[in-house]
Amino acid sequence: MTKIDRARSILQGPDLLLVSPSADLAYLIGYAGHASERPTLLAIPREGRARMLMPQLEAPRLPALEDVDVVAYDETDDPYARLADALGREAPGSVAISNEAWAALLLGLQKAWPSARFQAATPLLRELRMRKSAREIEALDRAGRVDDAVFEELRSAGIQGRSEREVGRMLEDMLRDRGLTDVWQIVAGGPNAASPHHFSGDRIIAEGDAVVLDYGGSLDGYQADITRTVHVGRPGDVFVHVYEIVRQSQEAGVAASGPGVRAGEVDRAARAVIEAAGYGDFFIHRTGHGIGLEIHEEPYIVAGNNLTLELGMTFSVEPGIYLPGRFGVRIEDIVVIVEAGARRLTDATRELVIL
Ligand code: ZN
Ligand code: ZN
Repeated sequence: MTKIDRARSILQGPDLLLVSPSADLAYLIGYAGHASERPTLLAIPREGRARMLMPQLEAPRLPALEDVDVVAYDETDDPYARLADALGREAPGSVAISNEAWAALLLGLQKAWPSARFQAATPLLRELRMRKSAREIEALDRAGRVDDAVFEELRSAGIQGRSEREVGRMLEDMLRDRGLTDVWQIVAGGPNAASPHHFSGDRIIAEGDAVVLDYGGSLDGYQADITRTVHVGRPGDVFVHVYEIVRQSQEAGVAASGPGVRAGEVDRAARAVIEAAGYGDFFIHRTGHGIGLEIHEEPYIVAGNNLTLELGMTFSVEPGIYLPGRFGVRIEDIVVIVEAGARRLTDATRELVIL
């Protein structure tokens, strides 16, 4: 079954599925497109051929597609009328459309099909992308190996005396040198490490700092994401204690992961370790997120998520403890669900590294 056919198979309610530029579009046709005032939309009707609506001037970018007809419009065309013409027959009664579609696009479609009912396509599309194929897992595995290697490289290069921004640039260069694109990083030193999504700044990393290093990028479209927390100089007893709790929490989250387990149970397993140690109030985010073409996607490893984990699902396990004004510790790996449980796709050392 082609991916377009698979997408069609999830169309149980709506007559038409509209996919705007997004990871969903990249998944379905190998072209992510880009959102702009010129509409780009993949239209998959329940019956009949799929159509790709796009500006004529961008049509050369599109890879050859066997099961999609291209509807390219000129600068003076009404794109919505062109799409309606191409789909023919009467207007669709119900339409599922991507979360990523701009409001302007939705308003244009509502004008073209005033009687159509619109609903979110994203909950339907997530079904397609949550269970990774062997090829996708292989890509995520290679991306993870890059993150592992870069951790070792940064350890050797050293971070003391450099600003967070400088260490961030080093990380980005190392990631790019190993083939990643769209690289990103969080370098949070000292009290900044207590902010989970800190923006790397001018603070100089010095003796006595805990430093959270969270970074990744994209390899063949698939994302890498890892976090390690290191300490500069000899750590105090409290840091060593907190680090060990987070390490055990992360182990517990990975150990709890497996086919048939609910996503929320993984969060519970990781959180229980931190709560038992008395730091429950300082673990202020969910335990993890799915990863694939997007850095954050289904399944979310969060309390209350009853989704059952299945073979091939990939997600992060990244508990943390954040003590405001003092320091933070987070340890993150990507795992894939396998028969025996979960296999790590990132696996740099989780022993406390002192630089
Ligand atoms: Zn991360
Ligand atoms: Zn993450």
